[in-house]
This record gives sequence, structure tokens and C-alpha cells, in this order.
Amino acid sequence: MFSRILIANRGEVALRVIRACKELGIESVAVFSEADRNASYVKFADHAVCIGPAQPAKSYLNVQAIISAAEITDVDAIHPGYGFLAENAEFAEICADCGITFIGPSPESMKQLGDKVKAREIALNAEVPVVPGSDGAIESEAQAFELAREIGFPVIVKASAGGGGRGMRVVHNDLNLKNALTAAKSEAEIAFKNDEVYIEKFIERPRHVEVQALADTYGNAVHFYERDCSVQRRHQKLIEEAPCPVIMPETREKLCEAAKRLLKEANYHNAATVEFLLDKDNNFYFIEVNTRIQVEHPVSELVTGQDLIKHQILVAAGLPLSVSQDEIKLNGCAIECRINAENPEMNFAPCPGPIDDFFVPGGFGVRVETFLKQGDFISPNYDSMIAKLLVHQPDRETALATMKRALQEFQISPIKTTIPASLKIIDHPSYRNNQIDTGFLESEMEF
Ligand code: ADP
Repeated sequence: MFSRILIANRGEVALRVIRACKELGIESVAVFSEADRNASYVKFADHAVCIGPAQPAKSYLNVQAIISAAEITDVDAIHPGYGFLAENAEFAEICADCGITFIGPSPESMKQLGDKVKAREIALNAEVPVVPGSDGAIESEAQAFELAREIGFPVIVKASAGGGGRGMRVVHNDLNLKNALTAAKSEAEIAFKNDEVYIEKFIERPRHVEVQALADTYGNAVHFYERDCSVQRRHQKLIEEAPCPVIMPETREKLCEAAKRLLKEANYHNAATVEFLLDKDNNFYFIEVNTRIQVEHPVSELVTGQDLIKHQILVAAGLPLSVSQDEIKLNGCAIECRINAENPEMNFAPCPGPIDDFFVPGGFGVRVETFLKQGDFISPNYDSMIAKLLVHQPDRETALATMKRALQEFQISPIKTTIPASLKIIDHPSYRNNQIDTGFLESEMEF
């Protein structure tokens, strides 16, 4: 087993991993930027190393500084969390070259599945249904026009290297296709230094359903059922829940098995999320694999009683999976609201600043993941997600009642947060009655 792990991340996920390390009897090393010097996660780690100034490029994305910190503190492994370097295959390779275990998949799997065009190929080989679309990258405008007519408008142009909803354009007719191609390509080039794009049928009013899975290095894979992440703004998730409230049991079975097949086909190990769109008739289509632990992983932990971060660490240390598929049971309903430092009344503009008043909800069925404390300052340099509020109850209605009262208890001021927006969403009849799709937030809600 590892004796010391460095967490190449900050904030709530750094604290989440530090907690798992402590419970496993492993020492933790936090890294921090000058802006995070007084952050709680730094204090809770056994060791801490400053890796540079506040700007991410100079600290949390600074591979050299992070590897130096790992060498100085003599760690066996690095946990990348999510974001920053978590899906950077080159970073995983450098870790391996330095004799440090990267807690995640191999660089090869990361490269293959991080490329959405290649991931589609792997899905097809594993007999997993994909969204109808191009066989590979789009080589020419003429090919794009031909394909769009063949699969029928609307279509969506997507970046092969895409992530975070960037490099995506929905196109409703011939007239807009050319512009969408150019726009998606240049956005992808800027964001990912890779302008390759492909085309998919735009599935109308789908739900976003994703399977949490985990594989060891001995060819065993298990799934932890699905999460529904249909409450999105600009393709970014805001509320997630498990299980998906509208999936039929036989579809669930097929979906989860498809996710496992895909990971086996890719020779994958460690945690992954296999994302799908689910249409009105309960047909599902693969869209992408996330080769890391995700923000919303605790939703699956709550309904299965399994600690996914501990599993990640144990599997990375070379142990076989400690749980079998039969032992992973779905229990109740879990919901997560992401609490972002954003102003819903100002088009969700980021709202950094000081936190003078802070109170965290608790009580039966409530779990809060945050690194914040009273007196902290939310830096404009980082992601606006500052806390996750989760509830777990035997059924959805009770879970929603718990979520409502917990959101009402949560105090974070004077900065603006998404708490009022979440309260409105969970009270909306379409959300309550499971009549939503990925377009719900933008088409039916005003803040
Ligand atoms: P990213 O990697 O940028 O997050 P994804 O491929 O995961 O991109 O897609 C993000 C979201 O975009 C999905 O949850 C869904 O709402 C929407 N989306 C993606 N592909 C399609 C599609 N073919 N049809 C309809 N919506 C789509």
C-alpha cells in the first residue's frame, strides 16, 4: 500500500482525497498556491508545499512545480482530483517516468478515451450504441454537408478534444453549418490546441444519464449505477441525482452493462464515468467517457454506500477490486446541488469575494463537501464551485424535502451563490414531476 500521496489539486476535492487517505492510514501532501495558503485543506493534510502564485498556469497546472513537490516529499502516488491535470496524459506519463503512481487510468487509455472520435470507435467495437454521426473527424466542408443531410438536421458539431461544453455548436439547417464548423474549430483550437471536430445527430430533449464505473488492473470492472445530470446551464451540470428517475429497470441494466463493456474494450483501469443521452423512448446513446473521478461522484457513493476515492486508491496500488457487482446495491435517492459563487440574477456571473457569514446545514440525510470557513476569500482565479450540498433519503420526495430545508439553512454571504437558483429549480413542477430534459433550465426557468 502507498505510504504517502500528494494531491495535485485544491479546494473541496483536495479535502475529499485527504480525508480518504487519513481513513486508509496514508499520509497526505497538499500543494497550494499563494492564494490558498490559509485554506482548510492545507491545514488538514499531513504535509503541505507551496507550488507558486495564484494563477493556475503557475501553480496547479505547473507540472514541474508539482513533480518537484512530489520528489521533495517522497510520495508514492499522486491523486489528480478533477479539473487541472486530471485528464492530462502527458502528466500521467511524467509521473510514471518519475516512479510515482498516477491514481487514474494509464496514459494510453486517457489519450484514447479523451479523444471523442476514438472513444466512439471503441464504443462501436464494444457494441455500445452511439449517437448517429461521423465515423471519424470531419475532413472537409463537403463531407460535413453530405453527412448532415444524411443523418438529418438538427446536428451538433463537437470538438474531438472537447470538454466543459466548449467547442460545441448546434446546427438547424444548411445555412448555419459552415459558420458552426468554423466557430467550433477555432474555439477548439484555442481551448484544446486541437481543431479536430466531428458531427452527431442532435438528440432532441434528451436526459443526460451517466454510469459510474471502476475497473482494476486484473480485468475486473464494476458499475455503481447511473446518475441523472439533466439540470444543466450551458452544458454545465448544476443538480445531479441518482438513480435516474425515468429510466426503466431493463434499460438501466443494459446501460450499466454497456458502460462496463466499453471500459473492458478500452483495457481501462481506475474510475471512469461513461456518459449517455437518454431519449424520450428510453433509448440511450453513448457520448463520452470522463477518465477521472467527477464532481458529482458522492451522489453514487450515497446510493451504493461505497467510497469511490478509497476504491480509486486501492486499485491504483495494484489491489484487485474489493467489491463485487452483486454487493453493489441501489439504495434510496440522492441529490446534489452544486453551490457556485455566481450571481443567478446576473446571468450567473462569477461572484468572488469575502465570506463573512458562513453556516453549513446538517442533520439527517445531509452531506456537505466544502473547504470553506468563515473569513475565507473566494479567489477569482479558480472555478466558481465552492461547495456541494448532498442529501440521501429512501425516496425522491423525501430527498427533495430534505434538500429544500438544507438549502434554506445554508448561509454564505455577502457573496452571491447559486443557492436561490437551486431552491427555485427543485420547486419547479417540471423538475418535481420528472418532466425535464437537458434544455429545461435554459428554456423554462428565469432567475
Ligand atoms: P463536454 O465534454 O464538453 O462536457 P459532452 O459530450 O459531455 O461535452 O456533452 C455535454 C452536454 O451537451 C450533454 O450533457 C448534452 O446536454 C449536450 N449534448 C452533447 N451531445 C449531444 C447530442 N448529440 N444531442 C443533444 N445534446 C447533446
